[in-house]
Amino acid sequence: MEKTDGELLDLYLAQHTTPESPLLHEVHRKTEIQMMYPRMLSGQLVGRLLSMISHMLRPERVLEIGTFTGYSALCMAEGLPQNGVIHTIDINEELEQRNLELFKRAGYEDKIIQHIGPALEWIPKLGTHFDLVFIDADKINYPAYYELVIDRINPGGFMVADNVLWGGKVLKTTGEEADMDTLAIRKFNEIAAGDDRTEKLMLPLRDGIYLIRKK
Ligand code: SAH
Ligand code: CA
Repeated sequence: MEKTDGELLDLYLAQHTTPESPLLHEVHRKTEIQMMYPRMLSGQLVGRLLSMISHMLRPERVLEIGTFTGYSALCMAEGLPQNGVIHTIDINEELEQRNLELFKRAGYEDKIIQHIGPALEWIPKLGTHFDLVFIDADKINYPAYYELVIDRINPGGFMVADNVLWGGKVLKTTGEEADMDTLAIRKFNEIAAGDDRTEKLMLPLRDGIYLIRKK
């Protein structure tokens, strides 16, 4: 079948972006074979963006909400300084052992710390002062994650939120598109846009990435 303009653009972007490392490629492939919702994995473009941001920021403390199969955590780990750590939260306990082995294999067993349980319960326990926060868990709680996290980000630190376009559904105000997840993401976007404690940039990369910098 002939490719659509959107598919051709994605291909062009991918061809002009650093490819996945062999390890990330393996994580990607295994996720596709073994997991129920493999499309939740962020993939090459968002992964390279996270790596790029991490290299630019050199964050000492990173918080990730939504570990899944560890892909995005590994990408952010690439730019960590010597003393940097990533705290990553996921509610799915079945991921823990497999991710533990993966992080060990990648040499990040001391740098990527997993927390299993609901993010709303874990975030307050993980202290304050994060340099980088990646929000990528259940969409319904995006507004709550924003409120919980924004005060915990250091001046000059970043919040990065994935899926903020939600397949374009945030643009549509009527009909069955306005499900709970869509409404929650739209609310998150409105809160973020109206917060004058931050600078922000929404990018149409993949499913939409929101870059939010704490002033
Ligand atoms: N960041 C990953 C993808 C995350 S997918 C990547 O880029 O590859 C979303 C994850 O959020 C899933 O693994 C799911 O188990 C987790 N999740 C869903 N609800 C959650 C909650 N309330 N607290 C913590 N994690 C949750
Ligand atoms: Ca995502």
